[in-house]
Amino acid sequence: MTDHSLITTARLLLHWPEVVSALREIHQPDPDGRCLGCTSQVGPAPWWPCGLALVSGAAPFPPGM
Ligand SMILES: [Zn+2]
Repeated sequence: MTDHSLITTARLLLHWPEVVSALREIHQPDPDGRCLGCTSQVGPAPWWPCGLALVSGAAPFPPGM
């Protein structure tokens, strides 16, 4: 996802508070700093914050986004 689409997605999610709540609960970091909510069949989970952590507000957008 590009920065622009992440912000657009975050704005759209404002209309679905239950989805936001579920995403925030699921997309949290594990002790190694990888996302518990994202899984991959081809490699390790992505580093947290993942895109869904950002759009749900589980993590703040980095400065400049
Ligand atoms: Zn995630």
